[in-house]
Amino acid sequence: MEYDVVIIGSGLSGLQCAHLLSQEGMSVCVLEKNDRIGGMMQSFVRDGVVFNTGLNYTESLGEGEVLDKYFNLFGIKGNITLKQLDLNQSELVSIGDKEFALPQGVENYTAALMQYFPSEVKGIKQYMDVLHKVCHSFPLYDLHPDTNTFTTESPYTAQSASAFINSITSNRDLQAVLGGINILYAGQQDVTALYTHALINYSFIKSSWRIKEGGSGIANVLANGVKANGGAVIRKAEVIKLDVDKGQITSIHLKNGEQLKGKNVISSLHPKTLLPLLPDDAFKKVFKKRIQNQEDSIGMFSVYITLKKKAIKYQNYNHHYFRSDEVWTTNHQQWPQNCLLYTVYNHQTTDYANGVCIIAYMKYSEVSQWANTSIENRGDDYLAFKQEKAEQLINMAEQKMPGLKSHMVSYYTSTPLTYRDYTGSYNGSAYGVVKDYKNPMYSIITPQSRIKNLLFTGQNLNMHGILGVSISSFFTCAHFLGEKYLYKKLTKE
Ligand SMILES: Cc1cc2nc3c(=O)[nH]c(=O)nc-3n(C[C@H](O)[C@H](O)[C@H](O)COP(=O)(O)OP(=O)(O)OC[C@H]3O[C@@H](n4cnc5c(N)ncnc54)[C@H](O)[C@@H]3O)c2cc1C
Repeated sequence: MEYDVVIIGSGLSGLQCAHLLSQEGMSVCVLEKNDRIGGMMQSFVRDGVVFNTGLNYTESLGEGEVLDKYFNLFGIKGNITLKQLDLNQSELVSIGDKEFALPQGVENYTAALMQYFPSEVKGIKQYMDVLHKVCHSFPLYDLHPDTNTFTTESPYTAQSASAFINSITSNRDLQAVLGGINILYAGQQDVTALYTHALINYSFIKSSWRIKEGGSGIANVLANGVKANGGAVIRKAEVIKLDVDKGQITSIHLKNGEQLKGKNVISSLHPKTLLPLLPDDAFKKVFKKRIQNQEDSIGMFSVYITLKKKAIKYQNYNHHYFRSDEVWTTNHQQWPQNCLLYTVYNHQTTDYANGVCIIAYMKYSEVSQWANTSIENRGDDYLAFKQEKAEQLINMAEQKMPGLKSHMVSYYTSTPLTYRDYTGSYNGSAYGVVKDYKNPMYSIITPQSRIKNLLFTGQNLNMHGILGVSISSFFTCAHFLGEKYLYKKLTKE
């Protein structure tokens, strides 16, 4: 059988494209290398506690807000259970001993900042004004009715986030608070583009949510929808080679020896992972060089802790803890300089939490000596490394969550190698290609490629995260369904 579209990868982007295109009558087949679908949307269970890989919380899911509309378009809305984070404190940013509770809602957020920093009112107003303008300059984030173009270009792509923040205030604490949720986008001083910071900060300020069913819940809703629409989602189907003839993909080879055919192919893989699957001359040297030279965002080290029953109360917020006011990833002299600390939310959560997560940045170079090993077979020195890092992070978290150590039953860890091997992310990079303000067009990849029937999608296209990836899926599907048609479907009341 020749499918209309074969999609490589069953992460959020692959499944969203498959769901929408199959709903529109196309025959689709999703190929996933792992025996579990979801990519970074995978959830997993340790000692009876459900943890998420790459979904702690997401943004703008209030009725009629931007992600709510995308979830409606992709058939997710109504099929998951949402929990909004605390209206008065969805983010707690700690800079050493100083704590800043940040509420949801643009007005509340602005008022809270002005209360903490009364002498900085002018800069805060300017900051919020620019955030609004940046979002408005991206029609697919703002969804204004008069949209005619769907460009990813904006005057704000060529500005630096850190330089912009420093330009509106010289107050070190305010600078740190504004950059304080940068673990959501691996913000680097003098690298990260203003638009990355603004789109993410602003959409989380509008509203932020956890999902009871976790990442796997979303993946299952999408995969079940694909199957109901007559499509296929095939696990343990690693793509190892793509044949190209006369500028078109003609055949897809799987590791198990099978071959598939598709009129079109959508790849949700990192382009660096995809290129070796294609013939050497499939792309021009200049494109390949550009892809090879793209910097990838830093990886993460995560500690997943299971707790004694009724020991630690569920906290309906995220705690971003920095040892000092050096908040950007590139400024860290010691490890860990910061961490994201939160109690997990799942179907077993009551007033009490059954798990805690601690996440900190980790460079691939820290684990590259074990690059040629596989899961569960990396050796004792790797286990010792993980234990040492986990204990450092747990000790840091204990300062902000007193009693954590005594209430802990067990803990598990993941390094950039774990992410690499479970999700296929390039060198364990958390968020894919870095969006560098100095060279914006270099880091943005368009869905269309030189190979006429090959499309790209996923976090490496425009932006990572649930919202960013949903927008990439929109772009990719628009190639088949038409931008105007899809935009109308997206924005319909
Ligand atoms: C630690 C961490 C925490 C995060 N937390 C959040 C959060 O709280 N909120 C948020 O909005 N975002 C979060 N993110 C980001 C978000 O999870 C990702 O941006 C998003 O899920 C990426 O989806 P994707 O479809 O682009 O890629 P992926 O999920 O990586 O999907 C790619 C898929 O392709 C498969 N694959 C790879 N190679 C092959 C092959 N050769 N053949 C077949 N299949 C293949 C992989 O196994 C994978 O399933 C987090 C990310 C990380 C790493």
